[in-house]
Amino acid sequence: MQKQTVITKIVTHCSATKPSFNVTVDDIRKWHIDRGWSDIGYHYFIDRSGELFVGRDIKYVPAAHKPWNTNSLAICLAGGVNDNKEPENNFTDTQFDTWFKFINTVIDNNGIGSIPLSPSFSMDIDFVGHYDVPGVNKACPCFDVQSKYDELAENELNIPPTDSATLVWTNNEYYLYRGKPNA
Ligand SMILES: [Zn+2]
Repeated sequence: MQKQTVITKIVTHCSATKPSFNVTVDDIRKWHIDRGWSDIGYHYFIDRSGELFVGRDIKYVPAAHKPWNTNSLAICLAGGVNDNKEPENNFTDTQFDTWFKFINTVIDNNGIGSIPLSPSFSMDIDFVGHYDVPGVNKACPCFDVQSKYDELAENELNIPPTDSATLVWTNNEYYLYRGKPNA
């Protein structure tokens, strides 16, 4: 895997799985390795319950959205299609809450660990969905990332404090947990 030293784009994906399937980061890692890749293609994964998992180490270029892989962060939400495998915005409020907090954490900290955001990073230009990548003819992640982010920023989800996400710095990585990390 190629190393990267800066993040110039944050690209959101979905797993293109049904909401009834509680797909895990291990499932996706296995699919990607079975495809011949050296690891899961995404850096972060949010399961149906809204828990955040680390996939590929952010130090490495993802395998997710050619030709924008180099110097990017790839995050994937579980879900995104209906029973007929058609694109559907069927993500849970807790998934969106985790996604929003994670993005804000990356922005607030100017990157993740030793991998900084590029000084030229722009939320209007470089915070994108997979569908924004040139040559990609996909609905992924099956929601409009810019308008969803704006909606969440304007109208923060009404989630009880005990259920809200907790950010933890451990093993040189950020982790977000639902509720208390050591409960
Ligand atoms: Zn995608």
